Amino acid sequence: MNIYLDTLLNLPYVTVFTCYQKEGFNFLKLDFLNDKVKCSYCDFETDEIHQNRPILVRDLTICGKGVYLQLPRRQIYCPHCQKYSTETLDFIEKGRKYTKRYEEYIYERVKELTVEQVSYNEQLSAEQVQNIFSRIEGSKKKDWSMPERISLDEFSRQKGKRKFATVVSDLDKSSLSRPSQPLCRD
Ligand SMILES: [Zn+2]
Repeated sequence: MNIYLDTLLNLPYVTVFTCYQKEGFNFLKLDFLNDKVKCSYCDFETDEIHQNRPILVRDLTICGKGVYLQLPRRQIYCPHCQKYSTETLDFIEKGRKYTKRYEEYIYERVKELTVEQVSYNEQLSAEQVQNIFSRIEGSKKKDWSMPERISLDEFSRQKGKRKFATVVSDLDKSSLSRPSQPLCRD
């Protein structure tokens, strides 16, 4: 365990076991600090690991070099619900090959540059960059489903004049309800 590297990495429940450079990238081999794995079906925790297949996950650049994390992927056989379950990690979306923070970073870069520029800078294919961008964009879209409880508010649009605007808010989501523009009543 190297507490300085662990602090630098800033990911929960992992420690840097070793690191090396290869083909222009930094590779960080990680170990978990927690022995138990939670079943994703019933939340039962066990330290009996059924199998452990390492995976490579892209993370934020360190000192100008791209980073790959080599992580153990732990699978358990849950004695409680008798199902095979693969560990879920807070910092990686299920089935993804990038950390959440790296996907967020790529998303922000594409907003400022182009897919081609980000692809070149990050040594990712244009398809990979586009895939990350579209996925994050999709997850950020507002949920415009009908609210269950609403509140109505009125405020004066012009001081001293009887011009009022009505704002409809979703009480449960604490956001403006559809339509996004205030309903105006002159
Ligand atoms: Zn279970």
